[in-house]
Amino acid sequence: MPCHSNEELKRLVSEAKKYTKHGEVADYIPALKKANRDDLSVAIYHSDGNCYSAGDIDQKITLQSISKVLTLALALIDCGEECVFDKVGYEPTGDPFNSIIKLETSRSAKPLNPMINAGALAVTHLIKGNSVIERLERIIAFIRDLAGHETITYSEEIAKSEFDTAFLNRSLCYYMKQDGIINENVEELLELYTKQCAIEMDCLDLSRIGLVFAMDGLDPVREKQIIPVEVARLCKTFMVTCGMYNASGEFAVRVGIPAKSGVSGGIMGSIRNRYGIGIFGPALDERGNSIGGIKLLEMMSKKYELSIF
Ligand code: GLU
Repeated sequence: MPCHSNEELKRLVSEAKKYTKHGEVADYIPALKKANRDDLSVAIYHSDGNCYSAGDIDQKITLQSISKVLTLALALIDCGEECVFDKVGYEPTGDPFNSIIKLETSRSAKPLNPMINAGALAVTHLIKGNSVIERLERIIAFIRDLAGHETITYSEEIAKSEFDTAFLNRSLCYYMKQDGIINENVEELLELYTKQCAIEMDCLDLSRIGLVFAMDGLDPVREKQIIPVEVARLCKTFMVTCGMYNASGEFAVRVGIPAKSGVSGGIMGSIRNRYGIGIFGPALDERGNSIGGIKLLEMMSKKYELSIF
């Protein structure tokens, strides 16, 4: 489906682009260093099937932390609410996304929520399948269905780059294994998680997935209920309380929409019953959110009255 380039969005993007020079691209995953700091693009997918965009929306981005919302949905479908929240909590945190401190200082190494790395690893652990390949194929098939895009796959280069350097995530896993939160082989879980994070798509795909969440799990284009309403509601609640790392409180005040960001510079947003938003802007602020992307959403929220509060 063609996405119409939109003049008003173009103006907002060029305004927000002024902030990208104050950010840095992620470098702790070596392959992400190649991104261009000045890029910023957005696609908006409406429930009537129309799409509007600004910037180069054909560029591919890896989902990174945005994948955490999608595996949460799949794990909830796979094993239900009780089983998922036996492994992870419901509470936001003021600590960075990859922090280990709460695993050590809490009574059990149960991660605070499914959006921090420890929580996401515990959720990925629950994805059903007989092998890493089978579980990865199930995650990819689910994401293809959400995006209505059959050729979505993962970047081997970025997955490998993260796998080879994911020492902190390995430590999180071993803490959780010690306490029985996970009980599988850590290298296998890491392989699955890093491939899940390296799933690639463009802003248009991202906006279409945002739309499915905006429509309470229904893909309005194909009139297909992909996620149960209750699972979509639960995921969006976590997007509001924990979706923008430890800046989720400030984001709720300034923007006020369910959104999830990733260290590749992607942001997926959902505007209830209206549209999904996909943003790519790899320059990050100090908390790991796309600096241009946040500015853009702030401007869009004011202009189109998007805040849910
Ligand atoms: N794959 C990344 C990691 O685990 C995801 C982090 C993110 O996007 O916040 O470090």
